[in-house]
Amino acid sequence: MPEAEIGLIGLGVMGSNLALNIAENASTIAVANRTTEKVDAFHAEAGALKDRIVPCRSLEALVGAIRAPRPIIIMTKAGAAVDEQIAALRPLLQAGDIIIDAGNANFHDTVRRSKELEDSGLTFIGMGVSGGEEGARHGPSIMVGGTAEAYQRVEPMLKAIAARFEGEPCVAHLGADGAGHFVKTIHNGIEYADMQMIAEIYGIMRDGLGMAPAEMADIFARWNEGPLNSYLIDVTAKTLAAKDAETGGALVDQILDSAGQKGTGRWAAIEAQMIGVAATTIESAVAARILSAMKAEREAAEQVFGPIELLDASIDRAGIIDQLEQALLAAKIAAYAQGFAVMAGASADHGWDLPLATIARIWRAGCIIRSQFLDEIAATFEAESGTANLLVTPRFSAMMRDSSVGLRKIVALSATSGIPTPALSAALAYYDTYRQARGTANLIQAQRDFFGAHGFERLDGSGPHHGQWNA
Ligand code: NAP
Repeated sequence: MPEAEIGLIGLGVMGSNLALNIAENASTIAVANRTTEKVDAFHAEAGALKDRIVPCRSLEALVGAIRAPRPIIIMTKAGAAVDEQIAALRPLLQAGDIIIDAGNANFHDTVRRSKELEDSGLTFIGMGVSGGEEGARHGPSIMVGGTAEAYQRVEPMLKAIAARFEGEPCVAHLGADGAGHFVKTIHNGIEYADMQMIAEIYGIMRDGLGMAPAEMADIFARWNEGPLNSYLIDVTAKTLAAKDAETGGALVDQILDSAGQKGTGRWAAIEAQMIGVAATTIESAVAARILSAMKAEREAAEQVFGPIELLDASIDRAGIIDQLEQALLAAKIAAYAQGFAVMAGASADHGWDLPLATIARIWRAGCIIRSQFLDEIAATFEAESGTANLLVTPRFSAMMRDSSVGLRKIVALSATSGIPTPALSAALAYYDTYRQARGTANLIQAQRDFFGAHGFERLDGSGPHHGQWNA
């Protein structure tokens, strides 16, 4: 006798928390996992929610436990595991059942899977879920791709489990097939940029100003009261303040300076390149993670070139700290402008009609990049839906004009003292390049025509030309 309204496969960090969230806020849920022992352990530990969870030791049992039409969430490792689960489910399901891939899929896979299931009678939804463990349990930001009809069928359940910003659920249907996973990818690309820029500011405080983590924690906590207010600034203040139980010192000082990546930030940079939108701050953040992992090579290089030296003790520290806040704000505007420009470009390429204001709205709570800033982005796209770039909107151009002064000073200071700021520098270069009406590509056109006879366009618009370069 079917007891559940929904099913979930994959009781890892995200799946187990999402299942508890659904059991608590939406409906009875049937759960399964490749390693079946985890199903029993999960059920045993579900406390008051135990009666709302149906533990299943096989996919057959899972399908049998859900009332038709069955929505089944796959929350496993992305990639081949998802294809394997779909293949195993297909013979067990009936027309009208809904498969929802909620992992971090590459959106190209989601487009492919949507096509493969098109004539099967099954409905496929590709759904980006952000907010990590805590979000999955207490309310994530949910980005849905699929048909409008498919979304309508799961909308009440998703609204019941999503994060809320001022009462509004952070979930939306963003477009067909891969739209939800694409937007999640760009979310993660922006997250990479945000985290890298914060880390660079930390680097200037540590290596330039010689500040202790506790002192930096106080500054980040103060910044969290201002325009930089966000989950990631709050996390930064808290991680900098945390003590190491073994040494009694700051925990951050005991952590290896080498960060991993699972690929979504890299996909964001690759997709930006593929659709021809400049996202240099996001690209720099991805490259910085790669360099961070090259610990042994960096150690060897420091032996060759010597370490960074502290800034002169007589420097105006309070002034620099104010400039750091400004720099972070200006660079953040550039990074978000790039991320939204990539989404606008992809929207046109893939025919998704991505609702940019809605995307900013559903990122205001539940997800890792949630911030007050996104409320302002949402308001900007609502007021100016056809805008080419956030940078030139009245609200953000005014903010950029003011805060870029600090960014310029910080990038200059870092460059002259050898402190690496790849993402902050890329943000400044993007801003300066974007706002220059007469750029330098006239010379590039000339060079290309010189060595490859590629031709060039003239300013007077009189059609293609070739230069008599060797005459
Ligand atoms: P996780 O804790 O490592 O759990 C992975 C789950 O996938 C486990 O249930 C595992 O089953 C299952 N699995 C792995 N390979 C499988 C296969 N070949 N066939 C069937 N099941 C398989 O991962 P997670 O952090 O929950 O992530 C799940 C998905 O959510 C991923 O796509 C991830 O990128 C995405 N995501 C993660 C976060 C985050 O903060 N962690 C945030 C957003 C999205 P076993 O127990 O049998 O190994």
